[in-house]
Amino acid sequence: MATPEDARRANRSLLLGTLHRDGPLSRADLAKRTGLTRATVSAVVRDLIDESVVEELGIRAAGGVGKPATLVGIDADGRHVLCIDVSEPAEFVGAVVNLDGKVVVRRTYDRKGRTGRAAVTLLKRICRELVHDAEGPLLGVGIASPGIVTTEGVIVTAAHLGWTDVPLALELSTELDLPVHVVNDANAAALAELTFGEPTAPHLICVRVDEGVGVGLVLDGRLFTGSSHAAGEIGHVVVDDGGAVCACGKRGCLETEVSEPLLDRRLEEDGADEAAVLRAAGTHLGTALATVVGALDVTEVVLSGPPTVSTETFRTATTEAIASRTLPVIGARLVVRPSTLGFDDVIVGAAARVLDQELGIR
Ligand SMILES: [Zn+2]
Repeated sequence: MATPEDARRANRSLLLGTLHRDGPLSRADLAKRTGLTRATVSAVVRDLIDESVVEELGIRAAGGVGKPATLVGIDADGRHVLCIDVSEPAEFVGAVVNLDGKVVVRRTYDRKGRTGRAAVTLLKRICRELVHDAEGPLLGVGIASPGIVTTEGVIVTAAHLGWTDVPLALELSTELDLPVHVVNDANAAALAELTFGEPTAPHLICVRVDEGVGVGLVLDGRLFTGSSHAAGEIGHVVVDDGGAVCACGKRGCLETEVSEPLLDRRLEEDGADEAAVLRAAGTHLGTALATVVGALDVTEVVLSGPPTVSTETFRTATTEAIASRTLPVIGARLVVRPSTLGFDDVIVGAAARVLDQELGIR
């Protein structure tokens, strides 16, 4: 049964979601759009102003009839979110992000090959530093990690970081005394598109290329994580039976053909043909994606990762590989594009996760 606390949370979420999408608005407009009473809107808005999440933004002149109304909107810098992306091969990226998804502070920290507990220790140090330097009150902390991450923020497995069953959210929230939310990096990139980007359809596939390859799935406007939080883990789908041996023991996994370190290595080889390297990698990616795209009928594919995956050559090869392996009806509508959030999409997505969990903004 719904408790008064559930109702309060639902009302806050409804009002904040409306302001996030359509704000600033007057209290009367908010009541009209949400179906809540004027009294409820006023009470919830008052609380949100006290919490520095919403602010009053001056008066809008009345158009014709009625008296002028005070507009309210999200107070973008009233609260900040501390975000760390640990999915990059060489460095951890730390940032302070505001409630509009804008990166206010961004720092990189050399990972120096750290894995296991040493990587957790570095992460804690970065968090403490950023908390210390934060100028405004913090809403919470968002961590984007590769691998399989539970809703409670336990890293079930992140092979490249040597993490197995690490209760990261619990460890960090105990250390920092702040709410901490952890999200898979491909899911973070998808959430960034959903919350702050310009998705043109309610279904979206976000492909994240870093030390490996992962996919974030948005279905009906919601992140889909599967029955064991492993939806979109396509890195070990075999795309070449005679391919190189993968870290998992199989041959020719997608990750043996497409990853950031691998692409860098191949492009740095003497006499490397850049277009051919990108075409081959894009084709392998498209081959692995074709089944996902075909099964779900999702025609918007967002690519997240190093600049190489945003190139026209890579995107065209990916598009052609998917289109030639799926029904014409899918190929005709297929769009493969870079993230609208640029290279900070994962960081911004970690913030989106905190906004979702702490404020119900989605
Ligand atoms: Zn593998």
